[in-house]
Amino acid sequence: MEAYKYCPVNEAYLFTSPLMNIDIFKEQCVLNIDFEDMEVRRNDKSQWQIDKEKLAETLKTDLQTVLELEEVCSIDNLKCDYEDQFDFNQRHVFKDFPDDNKLQTVKQVKMGKTKVEELAYVPTFPEPVIEEISEEDELVSSGEVLLTVSIFHPEKRKVHMEFKVLPDQKLTEVRDLITCQSDKVIFGEFSSNPSLEGVKTAKEISDASFFFVEQCFYNDTRNPLNRDYSRIIKEWAKESERYTVPGLGLFDSTNMQDKTFRDLNFRLGYPYLFCHQGNCEHLMVFNDMRLISEDDPQKVESYPLKTLVLLPRHKRCSICNIHLIKWMTKNDEMAFEDPSFFCDKCFRYLHYTKDGKKLASFQAFPYVSTD
Ligand SMILES: [Zn+2]
Ligand SMILES: [Zn+2]
Repeated sequence: MEAYKYCPVNEAYLFTSPLMNIDIFKEQCVLNIDFEDMEVRRNDKSQWQIDKEKLAETLKTDLQTVLELEEVCSIDNLKCDYEDQFDFNQRHVFKDFPDDNKLQTVKQVKMGKTKVEELAYVPTFPEPVIEEISEEDELVSSGEVLLTVSIFHPEKRKVHMEFKVLPDQKLTEVRDLITCQSDKVIFGEFSSNPSLEGVKTAKEISDASFFFVEQCFYNDTRNPLNRDYSRIIKEWAKESERYTVPGLGLFDSTNMQDKTFRDLNFRLGYPYLFCHQGNCEHLMVFNDMRLISEDDPQKVESYPLKTLVLLPRHKRCSICNIHLIKWMTKNDEMAFEDPSFFCDKCFRYLHYTKDGKKLASFQAFPYVSTD
């Protein structure tokens, strides 16, 4: 463990990997893995026995114990006979679970899932990629590294999106896949113009963003109109010698579109930052790095691969409780609460005549859930 000065920022070093990069990692992997031997063992099952003898030697025990351990720890032991009655690939399999089951977990799953289903069930994991590989497809070379990048929710401490990326992909390729509710916000009051014609979302107005990794800002400057968010922070750190405070420093900056993941030095598990819309801050963590396996998608074009997307839990209209909220009203003579939340249909029925005239005094704001 390297020496560090105590401060909350540096404290994270205790829980993260040493500073590294993809090439160093790959070099170490290749040094430690005998690929030829791996290939032999993959094709010749009799070699597996030799493997177990080696394992017994490493564990300082005998082959018999290793075989016993293998049997006791086998994943098959977790299966119960009951499972065979259900086809778990079926979408609503929980409906078939018996009602009189004594297991609380089964009861909860059944109740919980049924409730979720009423509110339109949204899967969190993207469909697995099924690839058909043709001759023209560019394939990832074997022994290539896959890096897992997690982007957290801006307010809740949970992962919002997760990607697997290839070393030579640009940072902008991941940036372009990050979606956030704050990009969809529409600023302004629209009670006189509820059609929202020609209105721009926050992202259409400003697409500026940066990643902050190991004292360096990676700014998205593809659009020349993008503001450089890093400049003011760098200047702030320079003022009054703040950079001498542990955890701060003299920050550097560069263009996001010119850098690939291979160019980065980082610590696995360290909370870095993705920031957009001025102050929408998402922690970003490189949480895994490994060599590509046969089970991963093999086409280069399948990456960056989304492996998790947290869909927003949409709230329902306060009148019909069916459709999603699209409008928030304030100082609304027609509403019973301030602010009030409506779906598009209820909002229009309640607030406008058939030919679109306002029926009462109120202010209307397009609503985007921040969940
Ligand atoms: Zn955001
Ligand atoms: Zn409604």
